[in-house]
Amino acid sequence: MAERALRGTRLGATSYESDRDTDLAPRQEVTFDCPKGHRFSVPFAAEAEVPAKWECRICGATAVTAAGGAPAAAKPKPPRSHWDMLMERRTIADLEEVLAERLAVIRGQREAAAGAAGAAAAQPRQRRSA
Ligand SMILES: [Zn+2]
Repeated sequence: MAERALRGTRLGATSYESDRDTDLAPRQEVTFDCPKGHRFSVPFAAEAEVPAKWECRICGATAVTAAGGAPAAAKPKPPRSHWDMLMERRTIADLEEVLAERLAVIRGQREAAAGAAGAAAAQPRQRRSA
């Protein structure tokens, strides 16, 4: 930052007055942790709302505040399984009922299919014997 300011310096453009003996605005240093292990701090005005994320100064990845909002943001929600979603809509008693209904339907279909197959299988036998 300081380098960039000097590069564009022209006489009169920049104040060379030092910070000595002046009261700086109240500020706070906020520490950010990068996912790659870099740690850096950014000064903010004391009354500024500190962002939960900041671009890492070393690698450019998204870093999060070391304290404060970080734990909530860093904790990822466990992925919801199909079972979890089902259990939000149904109870075990409901499911038992649905299962019983479906089993009855499937058994009915099987019996019908077995009956049809039996009849179909029976016919050629009759023809052969005849
Ligand atoms: Zn980094």
